[in-house]
Amino acid sequence: MSLSKLKKGDMVKVLAGKDKGKTGKVLTVIPEKNKIVIEKVNLIKKHKRPDQKSKGGIVEKEGAIHISKAGLFCSKCNAAVRIKSKTLDDGKKVRICSKCNDVINVG
Ligand SMILES: [Zn+2]
Repeated sequence: MSLSKLKKGDMVKVLAGKDKGKTGKVLTVIPEKNKIVIEKVNLIKKHKRPDQKSKGGIVEKEGAIHISKAGLFCSKCNAAVRIKSKTLDDGKKVRICSKCNDVINVG
């Protein structure tokens, strides 16, 4: 999976690791590290010191995972799929699912 194909807001499926099988929305793409952050995936517990706004405690925050551990999710196929790009008649580039040939919508 090439990084350029995944964008913020995409629905992806986790293919490896402790969150394998989970689907979620891409929150952040970190191109220089080939990593992405997915909503509710790879949650890391962090101890937060009390401050004026909160009393502190343990907070959970998403950690980045390597791009190769996630695949773009096609809701029609209900699976992580390979994607192809296609140029429409008006010159607009879209991504399509290589299985069902449906355009994959960006969230
Ligand atoms: Zn599909």
